Amino acid sequence: MPTESLLPRVGKAVTALAAAVGLLLASALHAAPLPDWPVPGGVARVNLETDRRPGDVRYDDEPVMVRSTPEGWQAVVGIGLDADPGTHTLKVDGTPHTFEVEPIDYEEQHLTIDDEDMVTPPEETLERIWAEQREIRAAFRSREVDTQPRLHLHTPVAEHRVSATFGLRRFLNGQPRNPHNGLDMAAPTGTPIEAAESGRVVQTGDYYFNGKTVFIDHGAGLVTMYCHLDEMDVEKGQWVERGEAIGTVGETGRVTGPHLHLSVILNGNTVDPNLFL
Ligand SMILES: [Zn+2]
Repeated sequence: MPTESLLPRVGKAVTALAAAVGLLLASALHAAPLPDWPVPGGVARVNLETDRRPGDVRYDDEPVMVRSTPEGWQAVVGIGLDADPGTHTLKVDGTPHTFEVEPIDYEEQHLTIDDEDMVTPPEETLERIWAEQREIRAAFRSREVDTQPRLHLHTPVAEHRVSATFGLRRFLNGQPRNPHNGLDMAAPTGTPIEAAESGRVVQTGDYYFNGKTVFIDHGAGLVTMYCHLDEMDVEKGQWVERGEAIGTVGETGRVTGPHLHLSVILNGNTVDPNLFL
């Protein structure tokens, strides 16, 4: 995971922020900004070199979060796990603005799944799975909330053991599958799950792979997804506050034991939840 190698950069960013706004280092650390981690599955903070709020910033045609910082306006860009390292382009009010995506080597994970239907789904389930994938992708791109969320998220399961980190290159029963697009927090079935930030529940479902799932739109292109729930205690359309209970840990869908799979989605791309926790 990137956390350790990020420390020098985070330290530098915090020092710069403290100098710029004259805060005590201690209080700056408390409000430590989201680290700049421009890799596939990471988040790039791109200085737009303007003091005027840009009207429209897009990456891969998706609107991107912008924030005011002491250095001027900044885009906070979620980079897809399948992105190629190299030069990427934002469109800032139609004008190209480039940034660099660096390579990263995520580890491999080999899992044994007893239920072969969860590794290679039977033909008759494929239509269901495709329909679910469309619904999930639509929820990833939800834009139903106008507020600007905090980027430091509440940990949804207070006591947990991380059972799988983000980005793992997965092999199920020896066969390559999609990389792990979230963070797995193992806890006993029935453990409460709390909303990572305030927002609107924009979708719920009981999906083939993800099991019982809740999506919350927090605004500015930030969405969180909670999978494999035992019970869902919220409904589509409902507003939830940061830290409010939304359901309980379970083992619905494709799992090897009870856990919460948390995905953090920024401008439609799943990014490493550890950057926000
Ligand atoms: Zn997971």
